[in-house]
This record gives sequence, C-alpha cells and structure tokens, in this order.
Amino acid sequence: MSSELRELYQEVILDHSKRPRNFRELPAATGRAEGYNPLCGDRATVYVELEGDRVKDVSFKGAGCSISTASASMMTEALKGKTRAEADALFDRFHRLITSDPSRAAENVAPELGKLAAFSGVCEFPVRVKCASLPWHTLRSALEGEATRVSTEETEASRGEAEGKTRPEGSS
Ligand code: ZN
Repeated sequence: MSSELRELYQEVILDHSKRPRNFRELPAATGRAEGYNPLCGDRATVYVELEGDRVKDVSFKGAGCSISTASASMMTEALKGKTRAEADALFDRFHRLITSDPSRAAENVAPELGKLAAFSGVCEFPVRVKCASLPWHTLRSALEGEATRVSTEETEASRGEAEGKTRPEGSS
C-alpha cells in the first residue's frame, strides 16, 4: 500500500470515528441487536428498518474504539437501499478484506466495498479485526428481526449463570 493511500484511509477512519454517521436510535426499527467485543470493550447496538427485503434505514448507538465506531458508521452508509442478500455479500467481502494475509490485502479490495476499503490496513492488526467486524455481526442478528445479543467471543464461558451455583461442601 502506498503511504498516500494509507494516509487517506486513516483520514477516512478518523473522520467517521469522530463524526459517526447515522448515530441514533431508530424508532421504526424492525430489528435491533446488541453487540459486544470483550477483547476491546466495544459495544454497539444496531437498528435496522426493513421494507420488504430491502434495508430502508439503518443506524447504531454505542461506545467503542475508533475502529469499531468508524466501521459501524461506514457500514450504515453502505447498507441503505441494499437487500438482505446484498448486505450479507458485502459483509463477506468486508470480512475477507480484514482477515487477509497482509501481503495480499490489495487483492481483496473489491470495487463494491467502496469506502470500506479504508479498513484494509486492519488485517495487519489481528486484535483489531473483531473491532471492525463487531457492527457487522450485530447487523446480521438485527436483520433476523429479533432483539438479540451478540458477542464476538462465541466460545466465551458466559454460561456460568445457567449452570447454577455449586454450594460449598457441607453447607446444607
Ligand atoms: Zn475496539
């Protein structure tokens, strides 16, 4: 990547993290999901309003690092007017980009990514991949139309509550 391009990408990300677009609740939302990335502490709630199969409006709220905020902001811009299938396809493209082998990231900058190409540098920082993908995972749940919670740590041991507490021996 040329240093000019890298600078441009950084500016785009900085701009969106400082002035996130579509940062609001959506009263007419048909779907909503909360996402959490425990690695970084990012939280995002994504709201989506579907009209038939098309994304009429999409927005988000939350608090996260600059990468997750910029990713959510640019995601909402990219998705308006898209069908669910197109949204899914875009996520696949985006995910392929941010998980690229750094030496081959340029090959994964598909034209339909548009401004999202700004995240091509993320693949050099594996710990940041989940920051960038959190809003998208959350969107996917919101598109399913039920209020859901998403964690980027699917295997996380947050099941403790369901198992109940074990009493200390001889305390009965
Ligand atoms: Zn983050």
